[in-house]
Amino acid sequence: MTQAKISVIIPVFNEEQVLPKLFERLVPVMEGMGRDYEVVLVDDGSRDRSLEIIMSHAGDMVRIVELSRNYGQHAAVFAGFETSTGEIIITMDADLQNPPEEIPRLVNTMETGNFEVVGTVRKLRKDSILRRIPSRIINAMTRRITGVNLTDWGCMLRAYRRHVVEYMLLSREHSTFIPALATSFAKDITEIEVKHEERFAGESKYSLAKLISLHFDLVTSFSEFPLKFMLYAGFFLAFLGIGFGVLLAVARLYFGAVWAAEGVFTLFAVLFFFVGAQFLAFGVMGEYVGRIYREVKHRPPYTIRRTYP
Ligand code: UDP
Ligand code: MG
Repeated sequence: MTQAKISVIIPVFNEEQVLPKLFERLVPVMEGMGRDYEVVLVDDGSRDRSLEIIMSHAGDMVRIVELSRNYGQHAAVFAGFETSTGEIIITMDADLQNPPEEIPRLVNTMETGNFEVVGTVRKLRKDSILRRIPSRIINAMTRRITGVNLTDWGCMLRAYRRHVVEYMLLSREHSTFIPALATSFAKDITEIEVKHEERFAGESKYSLAKLISLHFDLVTSFSEFPLKFMLYAGFFLAFLGIGFGVLLAVARLYFGAVWAAEGVFTLFAVLFFFVGAQFLAFGVMGEYVGRIYREVKHRPPYTIRRTYP
């Protein structure tokens, strides 16, 4: 049996300092596996010499996708998916924080366990505490949202089977988070520990604003909780308003008009009720917006793996 071809997809954004080293380490690993492979480098609108460097390596094994501007890491990986032809697709970062030497283990785990997705957990993560703490919160949140119990969602060194990638490509979404999206199309998922290194050179391409926007994508593309929250808050406030109104009415009858500050309290009760009702209305509207949102995403609602006669 011929062995499955491997595609390695690497998004590149202003990485001129690390690219030579990346080739130096990645190519021997891929050659060493002794099977068909391709490396798909996606230039995500770099403004330095990155494109020039990767073009000088272009060939049968190294394919280049040049995006017309900077679309962000996940969009770049998607462009790589579209171009890739391998049966097993690996994503990884260009900065060598994910050691290319881990690729054979990733492939091995996928093949021996017949998995559809193999994720990774960064052992001794070499990032600042300011990145690690929010990461823990995001990981816990992503576990809740996707219902899939993986430890580390942020590490892009991952392996996917062709069919999972094809399904992701069917979900033509503008903002997405690939590791989470993959779990909506796969059942056999596992994760392995991998080494993590300091960024080889250059600095992180994620500003705080970009990082926040990425995680906002994660929450809003995979959960409608923020919209639902308005509905729940609306119910709660409206009931509180009604309860408060009734309480004031009873107290007014009991203690008289002077206690109720000549109608000022009644005004408050009325106000509370309307604020609650407004939230409720927002929430109901949010429910519909959520449904519309789900439809316009055009994610396949289900994917069939096999049918039996
Ligand atoms: N990247 C990209 N487009 C962007 C930002 C990042 O293609 O807009 C690439 C970057 O070149 C690298 C990977 O995504 O290969 C991860 O970026 P980085 O290492 O800066 O992120 P961090 O490790 O700090 O989370
Ligand atoms: Mg990095």
